[in-house]
Amino acid sequence: MANETKFTCSACDKAEWHDPSKGHIPFGWCNRDIEGTIYLLCNSCGIEGRNAPDISPILCEIFASKGVFFEGCKKWEHRT
Ligand SMILES: [Zn+2]
Repeated sequence: MANETKFTCSACDKAEWHDPSKGHIPFGWCNRDIEGTIYLLCNSCGIEGRNAPDISPILCEIFASKGVFFEGCKKWEHRT
C-alpha cells in the first residue's frame, strides 16, 4: 500500500493507485505516443494499444474537450 503511486489518465483524468514494483504502469494502461508526445492512457482510453495507427474518434473528442487537437483527428471531423 505504501508503495502505491497515483496514475492519472492523460485523456479522461481517471486516476488509479498502483504499485510500480508490480508493473511499470497499472494493468491494462498504456503509454501511447500520439504525434510525438507520450500520453498515459487508462484501460478504456488506451484500449487500442500503444501502436494503434489511428486515434479513435472517442479519444479525439476527449482530447479536443481538453483543448488538445491532433492532426490524425481531422479525418473524423466531418463525420456525425
Ligand atoms: Zn482514460
